[in-house]
Amino acid sequence: MAAKADSKEVIELLKTLMNIESTSEKELEIGQYLEKYIQGRGFTAERIAIEPGSTRHNVYAYLGQERKARLLVTAHMDTVPPHIPFSIDGDVIRGRGACDDLGPMVAQIFAVEELRAEGKLKEGDVSFLWVVGEEKGGPGMIAANDMGLTWDAGLFAEPTEGKVAKGHKGNLVFEVIAHGKACHSGYPHLGKSATLLLFDAMNDLTAVEWPVSDLLGPSTLNVGKIEGGAGYNILAAEAKALCSIRVSKDVEGIKRTVKEVMDKHPDVDVDFKFQYSEMLLEWEFEGFEAEPMAYGTDIPRLRGDHKKVLYGPGSIRVAHGKDEYIRVSEIMEAIEKNKKLILELLR
Ligand SMILES: [Zn+2]
Repeated sequence: MAAKADSKEVIELLKTLMNIESTSEKELEIGQYLEKYIQGRGFTAERIAIEPGSTRHNVYAYLGQERKARLLVTAHMDTVPPHIPFSIDGDVIRGRGACDDLGPMVAQIFAVEELRAEGKLKEGDVSFLWVVGEEKGGPGMIAANDMGLTWDAGLFAEPTEGKVAKGHKGNLVFEVIAHGKACHSGYPHLGKSATLLLFDAMNDLTAVEWPVSDLLGPSTLNVGKIEGGAGYNILAAEAKALCSIRVSKDVEGIKRTVKEVMDKHPDVDVDFKFQYSEMLLEWEFEGFEAEPMAYGTDIPRLRGDHKKVLYGPGSIRVAHGKDEYIRVSEIMEAIEKNKKLILELLR
């Protein structure tokens, strides 16, 4: 590879990766491809099953024989369904994985390769980790904790519109379940409808003022799914609301508040599904804009006190959609910017 990346080579690699279907749980083929690709560039590569016997493999690559590196450069291989093949129209690349997360991954690969070609990286400086399952519970990054390795810093790729992320919100996911008051027959047609009981509880919940963080802004409630009842002439026996609070601070305090609100409604239960805290990141780098990100990533899943940096080309607003895209110019800029971040983190 020449010292400066050629956009044709960049597009070619992204095209190849995007044309391999890699929806969560189907990451084997893209992992095999990446392993061969990076070996072909002179790296030592390992494909590591996320649990014994699993066909889901992370790929870990480094220079020489030393697995331990100061900086981890990482992206996820999996994409959300459905697979959408690569297409290109001028500067715009469309298809699944364009911005989440194969475009940002390619920008990292070319940045490391340019720095190598410029003689600025040596063995033990940088390793790549490409994980499975970021979009579905993060089993790949969770398994990376078992590699017996630590790093001084991690550079995580996600579409951040070319800005460095100041941090991202946590999440508290729970279901509110209302039970209709049954009459003697056991059927609630003479009691109070579960749908109305649910409304009462949800009204109280939406009236709460959730904690606000200076860096990440307000915590926000989303009522994602409501179900209940059978018809207009039947009092509902049960009604449910599946909710998520994007947490900018104090997930435990928020959880207590949700419980307190529900305790005032004797016919309503709350079932907490999962939670994770907000994450604050390293973001003060010269020449970079910085912004909080509203979405979750793999970052909290990798334990350790390494510095954490989140950066990548493309926009999360088109990720997961049917019109997912990225601009070639954004990727080329991200190669330059990644080089700066890598050198800064290795200083
Ligand atoms: Zn992603």
